[in-house]
Amino acid sequence: MPKQTIADVDVASKTVLMRVDFNVPLDDNKNVTDDRRVRMALPTIRHVLDNGGAVVLMSHLGRPKGAPDPAFSLKPAADKLRELLGGVDVQLAADTAGPDAEAKVGALRPGQVLVLENVRFNAGEKKGGDDAYNAKLASFGDVYCNNAFGTCHRTQASMYAVPKAMKAAGKPAVVGFLVEKEIQYLTDTIQNPQRPFVAILGGAKVSDKINVIDNLLGVCDRVLIGGAMAYTFSLAQGGKVGGSLVEKDKVDLAKELIEKGGDKLVLPTDTHAGDDFSGDCNKMIVKAGEVPDGYEGLDIGPETAAYYAQLVKAAKTVVWNGPMGVFEMPPFDAGTKAVAQAIADSDATSIIGGGDSAAAIEQLGFADQVTHVSTGGGASLEMLEGKSFASVELLDDK
Ligand code: AMP
Repeated sequence: MPKQTIADVDVASKTVLMRVDFNVPLDDNKNVTDDRRVRMALPTIRHVLDNGGAVVLMSHLGRPKGAPDPAFSLKPAADKLRELLGGVDVQLAADTAGPDAEAKVGALRPGQVLVLENVRFNAGEKKGGDDAYNAKLASFGDVYCNNAFGTCHRTQASMYAVPKAMKAAGKPAVVGFLVEKEIQYLTDTIQNPQRPFVAILGGAKVSDKINVIDNLLGVCDRVLIGGAMAYTFSLAQGGKVGGSLVEKDKVDLAKELIEKGGDKLVLPTDTHAGDDFSGDCNKMIVKAGEVPDGYEGLDIGPETAAYYAQLVKAAKTVVWNGPMGVFEMPPFDAGTKAVAQAIADSDATSIIGGGDSAAAIEQLGFADQVTHVSTGGGASLEMLEGKSFASVELLDDK
């Protein structure tokens, strides 16, 4: 059932309590090094301000231990938001649900924004069950809005207990435009894809992606495998993997997936191997399953890269999650680059899962040439597994 969005409620003269994901990367001087998560929240925030409402923002940043810790203050994110909103009054509260937050919420006027301090400064946030904390936050808004896709797979207080308390008080609880868009691409497009529908899955561990592979084999025409997890599949086929990163305890599972996938599951035919985990090691291109002792597979080989690019170019829908090799270490970025280039060149609806593949597509400068780059790592993986989120389910239906 589609969820109501912020556009479905009247926000004039109301205060919208909005959960965002401002968990931004910071450098040593506390400068935001990648402001994508703040930028992605802007349309929803602007919508409320333009329609006569005020906004109270809640977010986590990093992993403080349930108590205030200046190292994890949301100040850099609030400063970035003020800069991006240009001319809007953006304040930062000294606490999350304490006296300063309460006073500042009370003084807030339409057109203004208040950022509460890091929700993880409170022991109740992660437990999701401190009634006084939940009730205090719930009292800060007339409307609840979930615009924190990166956190949607969690049921921490600001994601779950707080909207539940607001709903119980008769207040609307809706999704923001970012969450609406993420769900549209990561579930609707995948459930009703234009075909051929090709998924490319890579990364270090097959154990992280088993459920994704399993779910996508049910809906895709082809599932292309790359990254270190290809070597566990190689072992399952009786291949030699040398010193490649493998999960021996997942070999039986890989066998089951090979059997279940049949022609749909596409494995690399060659491997770029090195005699050391470094960019300037001795290298060789070998057939898949023929990595000699003393060498490890560090990327898909050129034949595989060309074949995967060809399949991607012929696709109408593409989903990509996880690098094809050790993309941080050239020349073992070649396979990942080839796949990224093919996705950028194709006319397909292209959806890039969060985490490393999102970083790779940004780094390579292709982000504008794909349909959707997810802001959520764990959350986008869970969506690709076919799961739905309790934090979204509880919100108001259309
Ligand atoms: P994941 O977090 O599972 O998406 O995995 C991403 C990580 O997998 C990246 O840091 C890559 O360097 C790593 N990776 C990909 N292919 C390989 C490989 N062949 N050997 C070792 N690490 C790899």
